[in-house]
Formats: sequence, structure tokens, C-alpha cells
Amino acid sequence: MQELGEPAYRARQIFAALHSRRLQSFDAITELPKELRAALGKRATASTLTLESRYVSEDGTRRYLLKTHDGLPVETVFIPEERRDTICFSSQSGCPLQCSFCLTAQLGLLRSLSAGEIVEQVVIALNDAYGVATETPHGTNLVGMGAGEPFLAFESLMKALRVMADPAGMHIVPGRVTVSTAGIVPRIRELATISDRPHLAVSLAAPTDELRDQLMPINKKWPLQELLGACKEFEKSLKPGERFTFEYVMLDGVNDSEDHARQLANLLNRHQLRAKVNLIPHNPAAPLPYLPSTPMAVEKFQAILEAKGIPAFVRRPRGRDIYAACGQLAARGSENVATSMGSSNAAP
Ligand code: SAH
Repeated sequence: MQELGEPAYRARQIFAALHSRRLQSFDAITELPKELRAALGKRATASTLTLESRYVSEDGTRRYLLKTHDGLPVETVFIPEERRDTICFSSQSGCPLQCSFCLTAQLGLLRSLSAGEIVEQVVIALNDAYGVATETPHGTNLVGMGAGEPFLAFESLMKALRVMADPAGMHIVPGRVTVSTAGIVPRIRELATISDRPHLAVSLAAPTDELRDQLMPINKKWPLQELLGACKEFEKSLKPGERFTFEYVMLDGVNDSEDHARQLANLLNRHQLRAKVNLIPHNPAAPLPYLPSTPMAVEKFQAILEAKGIPAFVRRPRGRDIYAACGQLAARGSENVATSMGSSNAAP
């Protein structure tokens, strides 16, 4: 605004219009003089993602397939829950990690997203769920668990979180954000030093290096000893009563035996970590060579962890029918579930 010879309050006006009211074009900011809107449009853009498709699950979960200005796929998922809603955003288009149970891996890395592209995913999901220019409902949670590895887009991620936390904007504070990593050790250590940081989840998937090497090749770079060492360091940044999360995808006959459960409990107890474990039944998808664990195996696994003092929770899969669940984001279409954007803006 200074460059354009405008007063400072104009900048605040524009920030609030784009982030609090979530308008998606300069033209929609009607309180600005027409000439200023035109001048802005010449040097900047208020939105760069376009909506390709919107899929609605029978459980109410919505998946947005978006496209960047350079034609790459980005996916965002809106998950309605009884008391609060959750938006799951992507940090990269595709993903460079090659976790054998995840469909996103098959895209490879297309590129990391910018801070603006991360923020805009949340804007699009909020506007679709609640309507443009409505207040962001209190208690909306964000999870960085979509496509990509957030800690390989660290700068964009942290910048996006700062923008979204601004009280003059969306005001979604870091305490309502959880970021999930496959185990980029230096970034776990770095996150621990950031005062206004989001919550941390670490994807484990196996209790031994031998098995984790196969399922998550990133383990060859940062094996369990180093990963859990970084988690121990991170633990110092937890607030009283706070725990961080390990995610454990449950693959039938691969990592879900009673022995695996005991190994996992012993591993975590050896490091005495203030953590809980979320058990995620595998979300199957055609080319992946796995099946979800049976409910009985999941229950037994949970019981063994609990008996050894480790809080464990079973996550209910959401949006499997529209390829919106964990590990299913791979820019897929699905003819019979597509609906158009716009008509149903009511909150679920
Ligand atoms: N790259 C980050 C975030 C994306 S994955 C990470 O690895 O943590 C988000 C979660 O989905 C991870 O815990 C991952 O292990 C899990 N996941 C991946 N594929 C899955 C699948 N097919 N079924 C269930 N969970 C899966």
C-alpha cells in the first residue's frame, strides 16, 4: 500500500477482507475504491488455486481436488464431526517419500506448495462449508496430514500457520493445528524451539527398523533410535498434560500382530515418551498391496498397548468411498460421487 501511495489502514482492510471474510478476489472487496482494486489486480493476485472437482462422502466428508496455477493437483479434505470440524490440508503436490502403504507416494514429488497455496486450501474448505464472509467457527481444527511431507515444506508451512493464526484474519491458533511428519528428524528438533508451534504427530507404522525400512524408506536416513531421540527432545516443549501423537497405520498380517504391539509398547516405554498412539486402520486402494487389519486384531493391539501403560486410540476412517481418507490422496476422480460447487453452503 505504501508503494501505491495508500494509507496503512488500506493494508489492514485488505488483509481482513482476504483472511477474515475470506473473499477470493480484489474485485469482491467493494469497500476499496475501484481504481485501487484495478491497481492491485495488475500487480498481485488474491487467489491462485482453481477447483477441479468436489466429492462428498456418505459420511459427510468432502474432498476438494484443486489445481495450482501451473497445473498441479492439490487436495484438501473437510471432515465434519459432532462437536468440531477438521480441515486436512496438503503441504506438497505429490510426495517424495515412498511409504509403501500410501497412494500419494505413487505421484512422486511434483513440488512443495507456497504459504499462499496452503492458506487458500483452508479458505476454500471454510467457504464451502460455512459460506463466504461468515465467521470462522470456533473450534475448527486443522491437520497437516494431506498429500506431501509438511516438514519438507517447512518454511511455507510455518508462514501459512502464522497467517492463519492472525486475530485479524482466520484466527486459527497453532494450538488447534496438528502437523504430521514421516520423521524428518532435524525439523522435529527445530519445531521444539518454536514458541508458538502446532501440535506434532509422528508416523511410525512399525516397531523395528527392519520393518520400518520396508514400509517407510525415510527410516533408512533417520532410523528409530534417531527419530525417538528427536521426539524425546521435542517432549521438553510439551505443556503440562500435553502429549504428542504417534500414528500407526495397521496393515493386515504385516505390522499388526500381538508381538508387534508388545515391541511397540516396549520401544516407547524404553524411551519413556509422553505420547499417545493413534491406530489407523489401513485405507485400501487398488494398486496398494495391503488390506486393513481385522477389527479383532486392532482391538487386541490397542489392549496390549493400554496394558503396558500407553494410551492408544482407534481412528475411525472417514471419506474412504471418495478417496479422501488418510493415504488415499492421489488426485483421483470418481464419477458417481462428484457434485458441483456452490449449491450447498450450509453447515453440516
Ligand atoms: N507425510 C506426513 C503426512 C501425510 S500422511 C506423514 O507421513 O505423517 C498422514 C497419515 O496417513 C500418516 O500417519 C500416514 O502414515 C497415514 N497413511 C498413509 N497411507 C495410509 C493408508 N493407506 N491408510 C491409512 N493411513 C495411511
